[in-house]
Amino acid sequence: MNKPELLAPAGDMEKLKTAFRYGADACYMGTKSMSMRVKIGNKEGDALEEALILKNKLGKKIYLTMNIHAHENKLNFLEKELDRLTQLHKKGLDPDGILISDAGIFVTVQQKCPWLSLHVSTQANILNSSAIEFWAKQGAERVVLGREVSLRELQKIRQTLNEKGVNVEIEGFVHGAMCMAYSGRCLISNFMTGRDANEGMCAHSCRWNYKVYLKEEQRPGEYIPIEEDQNGTSIMSAKDMSMIEHLKDVVDAGLDSLKIEGRHKTIYYLAIVTRAYREALDLAMESKLPTPEILELISSIDTRGYFTGFWYGKPGAKGQIYKDRRGDYNQNYCFAGVVRDVTNGKMTVEVRNRLNKGDSLSIVTPKAIIPYKLLQFSNAANGNEIEAASAGQGFSIICDAPKEVEIGDIIQKKLKTEMKN
Ligand code: SF4
Repeated sequence: MNKPELLAPAGDMEKLKTAFRYGADACYMGTKSMSMRVKIGNKEGDALEEALILKNKLGKKIYLTMNIHAHENKLNFLEKELDRLTQLHKKGLDPDGILISDAGIFVTVQQKCPWLSLHVSTQANILNSSAIEFWAKQGAERVVLGREVSLRELQKIRQTLNEKGVNVEIEGFVHGAMCMAYSGRCLISNFMTGRDANEGMCAHSCRWNYKVYLKEEQRPGEYIPIEEDQNGTSIMSAKDMSMIEHLKDVVDAGLDSLKIEGRHKTIYYLAIVTRAYREALDLAMESKLPTPEILELISSIDTRGYFTGFWYGKPGAKGQIYKDRRGDYNQNYCFAGVVRDVTNGKMTVEVRNRLNKGDSLSIVTPKAIIPYKLLQFSNAANGNEIEAASAGQGFSIICDAPKEVEIGDIIQKKLKTEMKN
């Protein structure tokens, strides 16, 4: 059994460094104008060269997304992106794959940059071996499955491809948010906000609270609400996918690349999820289950409750949140800060949530979780000792550093709220 790749999202350079540091083998990043999540990391175009140099240095991989379905006017942007990639290629800097869903973009990249490895994005909604065979014949080296493919289907797909001698890598999502629509085939966000999901601008409108009303023809202006409970009607409210306890199943079924969703998430999310999946995947390769510590870690970030997506069949009601809509994010920990400097036994921490003297924190490093009591700290700007610190404008504190701590480590704080299941 080949060890699959752990693939994490990277919306900007800081997230890229965080994901690599916390154990990702590869990251996927947006291109400036041709990708979903186009709003994220606006400077990443300028940072692409730096990102490619970094991944070469670390022996990791970067896949670039050009996975929009392009209107005609987008083709000009495509030309510019390909010119940029050609310039980088001349410097010996290439991404390890380009994620595409539009057939026109696919052939254009193939013609203009034939050295690039082509991957077919999940936005192409690939659900069967025939579609994979089609894309492989067009020259795709990898396909990303639609999130709607089950484990049993993946096994059959892999078997059929092997029998036909179709040599193509398969990537699939194992963690992250789910669309309530067929992945990405949705106009709700566009209708509600003018932000087009296909252009990477989704406002996640399907997760808002909605109320349904009846209107009787003879009573203009009177709207009679229909409610399932006091919080409204939760008709579009998917939980988040997590396959952390079932990684061996997806590896055995034939996934080459295990993908984590969320290029717009914080470095906190990225560090925690990547670290948890790194450990869980290493254990799965030894046929072991994740430890309670890993499960606690993955539950420590904001989540709408986890389920296994479509991997074990259509989720139905168990994939939805039907009650307690307004407080439906599990939040038992928060992002307290990130270590920006370590010097002479002291660390400078950029504060991301309010900190008080006496707080019990955890420093999550790529290798350990270190309990930490915040006893004494000072304002990094003036050295004055303080008893509380609030987040904002890069506000930082200086406090004692445990010896294992390094720059980039993430600090979390336990909240009083208990986790809901
Ligand atoms: S609004 Fe919801 S269903 Fe539609 S694209 Fe966004 S996340 Fe997916």
